[in-house]
Amino acid sequence: MRAFRFLIGFVLLVLQLLSPPVSAADKVKVVASFSIIGDLVRQIGGDRVDVTMLVGPNTDMHAYQPTPGDAKTLLGANLIVINGLGFEGWADRLVKASGFKGHAIVASKGIKALAAGERDHPAHGGKAHAHNRYDPHAWQEVANVKTYVANIRDALIAVDAPGKPRYDAAAAAYLKQLDALETEIKAAFADIPKSRRRVIASHEAFTYFGDAYGVEFLAPQGVGDNTEPSARGVATLIRQIKRERMKVVFVENISNPQLIERISKEAGATVGGTLYSDALSEPAGPASTYIDMMRYNTRLLAAAMK
Ligand code: ZN
Repeated sequence: MRAFRFLIGFVLLVLQLLSPPVSAADKVKVVASFSIIGDLVRQIGGDRVDVTMLVGPNTDMHAYQPTPGDAKTLLGANLIVINGLGFEGWADRLVKASGFKGHAIVASKGIKALAAGERDHPAHGGKAHAHNRYDPHAWQEVANVKTYVANIRDALIAVDAPGKPRYDAAAAAYLKQLDALETEIKAAFADIPKSRRRVIASHEAFTYFGDAYGVEFLAPQGVGDNTEPSARGVATLIRQIKRERMKVVFVENISNPQLIERISKEAGATVGGTLYSDALSEPAGPASTYIDMMRYNTRLLAAAMK
């Protein structure tokens, strides 16, 4: 019993040493460009950091433009973390306009980026950046996020050296979780024949996912940009669904119940739930952390192929 108490005391002491108490005012102020980066910073920084996201959960990065309020938030921050690869076309302008003198990092630095797809993707951060050289959606591959985590850990240590033991330990633990996640995603598709690992998805955000886990994402035909498709467009989509023998399609811009009904009646396919691509869900939703998002998408996709 005494040995047990000693052990508990020892564990508590180690925990205290790992994370000295930090008052709200002393917290490292981090600005994350969007919700997925925000979650990664929180996973590594824990209670030593105070994270503000410029583009929050369930919010479309494609429609974001920085506000004067964002510039003010940034000016008061110690660190800004962005994805890079052209995802935040506005970042340089915002940093300059705000007078920010802190540390700025690109989380994707060091990954092997894929070239931008041929399919039209809505502009990230304004029309001028519509034709990126690289596909920015690198977080859709877990291996890349391990690099993100290392970059974020190093950046936190650079701005808050006393927190190093905390950041090192949290990053190591989180990297282990990412290893497990990777194994889980690969296992989910392993028994599905290659010929069935195909889905129709509207937002071209899953090229990294497709490459890494052997899933083919087809662009929907007949339903273009962000507007609700016409009846004629839906007829084209129905022909494609039949030809490709799809049972589920993921088309974000079809919200009209009559069109959804028509697709299920005429093509025998369901308009599937939302795949989370560029934003996490709200805290109560099914994809409120990066790991939950990847799990959720994997489950939805694998179910659609069965
Ligand atoms: Zn996107």
